[in-house]
Amino acid sequence: MVIHKKIVILGAGPTGLAAGYELSRSKNQVVIIERNKKVGGLSRTEECNGNFFDIGGHRFLTKEKRVLDLWKNILKDDFLERPRLSRIYYNKKFFNYPLKIKNVLKNLGLLNSFLVIFSFLKAKIKKQKEDNFEAWVTNRFGKRLFKIFFKSYTEKLWGIGTKELSSDWARQRIQGLSLFKAIKDALFRKGKEKTLIKKFYYPKYGSGQMYEKMAEKIKENQGEILLNSYVQKINYQDNKIKNIVIKNKGETREISGDNFISTLPINKLILKLSPQPPKEIIKAAQALKFRSFIIVTLTIDKKDLFPDNWIYIHDRNLKTIRIQNFNNWSPDLVKDKNKTVLGVEYVCWENDDFWNKSNKELINLAKEELGAINITKKASQKLGSSWLEEIKAGKVIKAKDAYPVYTPKFKDDLKVILDYLENFKNLQTVGRSGAFCYNNMDDSILSGLNSAHNII
Ligand SMILES: Cc1cc2nc3c(=O)[nH]c(=O)nc-3n(C[C@H](O)[C@H](O)[C@H](O)COP(=O)(O)OP(=O)(O)OC[C@H]3O[C@@H](n4cnc5c(N)ncnc54)[C@H](O)[C@@H]3O)c2cc1C
Repeated sequence: MVIHKKIVILGAGPTGLAAGYELSRSKNQVVIIERNKKVGGLSRTEECNGNFFDIGGHRFLTKEKRVLDLWKNILKDDFLERPRLSRIYYNKKFFNYPLKIKNVLKNLGLLNSFLVIFSFLKAKIKKQKEDNFEAWVTNRFGKRLFKIFFKSYTEKLWGIGTKELSSDWARQRIQGLSLFKAIKDALFRKGKEKTLIKKFYYPKYGSGQMYEKMAEKIKENQGEILLNSYVQKINYQDNKIKNIVIKNKGETREISGDNFISTLPINKLILKLSPQPPKEIIKAAQALKFRSFIIVTLTIDKKDLFPDNWIYIHDRNLKTIRIQNFNNWSPDLVKDKNKTVLGVEYVCWENDDFWNKSNKELINLAKEELGAINITKKASQKLGSSWLEEIKAGKVIKAKDAYPVYTPKFKDDLKVILDYLENFKNLQTVGRSGAFCYNNMDDSILSGLNSAHNII
């Protein structure tokens, strides 16, 4: 079967939906193709026994009025302002975040705190060339602080050494999301850090509620969304995308269009093009890598386990990078208010041994790691010693292509690909994976809106 639509959007995450919303509002004929059974992409909300959880909690923060107005318009009273509390677990201790000087000194100890300041001053005098993550951070925080707080967390997240990671990631993220700057600020009293924002917006029923509502609006505007539809192939001729081939419930269909917006991972987009692009383009696409993400949610038969929305786990002996407490994101995420829904988060490579672990193995590991963290010691006082056995339901969600890996060479490979894609006059590749950019939802939405405006 062949369908013709004016505009074909690949992927129903925030970017694809924002583009579809804007285009359908201005009476353009759109179809959105999504491989999952629900919309929202990495920002969707999943369900387990009547409880809701995100693929990692998703805060709604933006400086863009356009995006904030859009969010508020879509969800109205269901767009809540929520308090934020998060801490860092390191060396069997919890560091308040934002950092409190007394808490830092107490946790690090006087000698360690003195050594941190000494190493910070040393780094200020003896600067390194900032061509990798480790050098960038060390220059700003000193070697000791780097080792204490950056090294193990970053290596767990990215799966490569901190010298193999581009300083671009530090530039983009650390400035705005830094425990380390917070420590520095706390120690050296250097003004306010922008990520110490203590409130954020959040939909009553999870991040995905926003995108499900957006999808409803697109359908009201006569837009079409095809779920469970996997883009297999993208056919082109004379520098124009002609059509895509999708697989929907075992059936293959062809969809042609005048304009195409892709939010698929850019490396996978290249590999789907037919005829195959030149060898050097394929090589560049194969060099770009994404980290995958796994969340294990566990329902515990107790309430008020701990007050944080999430806790970063910087301990190198634990594989988890973060623990979410979804009750504290929005009470409406949890069906029974006497229970707590936790999310234990892991990062790995697609198809490595960790990725291929069974759900049972992952649930057992998550339980074990919760048991190893002090917070559960506190919890166990409340819960009784058998609290781990009280963990009832567990659900595992695996997400591919979650984090674009900024190796020192990624910009060269990306440039090769983008230069090549420039030739296609009716194709835009946007969004987090589409632009290979560590975007938050607001940046992703903006790129979707902009791609729509380019067409309009
Ligand atoms: C763990 C984690 C926590 C995060 N926390 C926050 C946060 O707190 N705040 C924030 O603002 N942002 C956060 N983000 C970022 C946010 O998730 C992204 O910015 C956003 O989801 C990107 O939207 P997108 O539409 O560009 O891509 P995606 O959300 O990745 O959507 C792309 C869509 O394309 C679909 N697709 C892929 N391949 C195919 C195919 N072959 N055929 C059909 N469909 C396909 C996918 O299924 C997906 O639905 C977080 C990300 C992660 C991984």
